[in-house]
Amino acid sequence: MMDRIWVAACAELEQSVGPNNYNHWIKPLRLTGIEDGAARLASPTRFISDWVNRHFAKDIVAVLNRAGAEVERLRFEVAQAARPSAQSAPISTAEAAPAPTTRAPRADLGAPLDPRYTFANFIVGKPNELAHAAARRVAEGGPVGFNPLFLYGGVGLGKTHLMHAIAHEYQFRHPSAQVLYLSAEQFMYRFVQALRESAIMDFKSMFRNVNMLMVDDVQFIAGKDSTQEEFFHTFNALVDQGKQIVISADRAPAEIKGLEERIKSRLSCGLIVDLHPTTYELRLGILQSKTEVFRAQHPDLEIGAGVLEFLAHRISTNVRVLEGALQRLFAHASLLRREITLEVAQECLTDILRTNDRKVSIDDIQRKVAEHYNIRLADMIGPKRARNVARPRQIAMYLSKQMTSRSLPEIGRRFGGRDHTTIMHGVRKVEELIAEDSSLAEDIAVLKRMLEA
Ligand code: ADP
Ligand code: MG
Repeated sequence: MMDRIWVAACAELEQSVGPNNYNHWIKPLRLTGIEDGAARLASPTRFISDWVNRHFAKDIVAVLNRAGAEVERLRFEVAQAARPSAQSAPISTAEAAPAPTTRAPRADLGAPLDPRYTFANFIVGKPNELAHAAARRVAEGGPVGFNPLFLYGGVGLGKTHLMHAIAHEYQFRHPSAQVLYLSAEQFMYRFVQALRESAIMDFKSMFRNVNMLMVDDVQFIAGKDSTQEEFFHTFNALVDQGKQIVISADRAPAEIKGLEERIKSRLSCGLIVDLHPTTYELRLGILQSKTEVFRAQHPDLEIGAGVLEFLAHRISTNVRVLEGALQRLFAHASLLRREITLEVAQECLTDILRTNDRKVSIDDIQRKVAEHYNIRLADMIGPKRARNVARPRQIAMYLSKQMTSRSLPEIGRRFGGRDHTTIMHGVRKVEELIAEDSSLAEDIAVLKRMLEA
């Protein structure tokens, strides 16, 4: 009965709110009952129910009535699975008469936000705690000096997730504010289109009413001169008006080739934070939380002992790949109705595990480090002791120890037949330097990311 009404209502809602809104906001809901003139809707997150209540309550009530249900208001139930390491929201119900529809987000200008990318769904660990804290502050919208906020880090480490989370939270706290989120490519595309249609004034005015501008993957506009120019002006104008800017890129501003100096220097007036490669603990936390969410819907799912630990151990760095692996296991389990044992996981994920096994070699490390510090590859293994050569060599030793499974004597052989104690000394030295010298630590993080890419 409820299902039939809801199916009929959904068909009509898809028409009236448009497929994008429908897919993002309505589709995750379920009609679970009707009592005392209130339709009870189950929603996966508080954010979705609040949003729907603010923007689509009237439509839903009208459509339900046409589908044969006599209701005058909606009641939302948020059943959120407990999430160990994320801030977990309690089960809550909220009842409300249709709220007056506020201005819709400027979805026509920006890219749609993924409703799953919230702070509640973001697992915080050592590698991302700083970025997360900064994102939280900016999302509050108070008078923080983090403008612009520049988030950077390797692929699949959660930059886009954090940006969407900021947008959701900020929009939630400031319902009438305009948040514009777009990728740098979209920015460029719109700009070029505006140029072609001689509509530059429109392009400019599009930003005038924006309270928060978010541009994702800004490395794409580096080297594209006219787009960069326009970006710079837009960005200056907004910062001068006290509007918040949030930018992401796959590397630090200084490392983006072809990005203008004045943009770099303007960026460094704000806060620059990076997402470090994931640690085992963070990966395990993410896997556990996702598994719990999934099990809330599929209570009969069985995951054998050690499977999540195995995944966290074998699939390093990129969270997107980790999630993909987990999704595949879930699909496998629910199709075959079989417990996921370690063997099943290994068999089902052979291809993913194989690509993640592609280890960095000592050769790669020596080459990259030599290139980075502009020394000859031969000096990596040669006897020279001058600091400008010895330091990069020690960094390469350190990275070889960290990133490969080679033993110290093996590494020693690859560095011109050095003794394992020399390697150990080099590794220790670099560890000390990293603790003292943040710019060197940064340098090494960049090298690591390049090697992992
Ligand atoms: P990036 O933009 O840095 O390439 P994304 O934000 O697209 O990465 O993240 C890739 C995937 O990994 C997304 O599905 C995201 O939800 C997930 N993810 C990344 N970091 C976390 C985290 N700390 N907690 C939960 N999910 C995460
Ligand atoms: Mg991204």
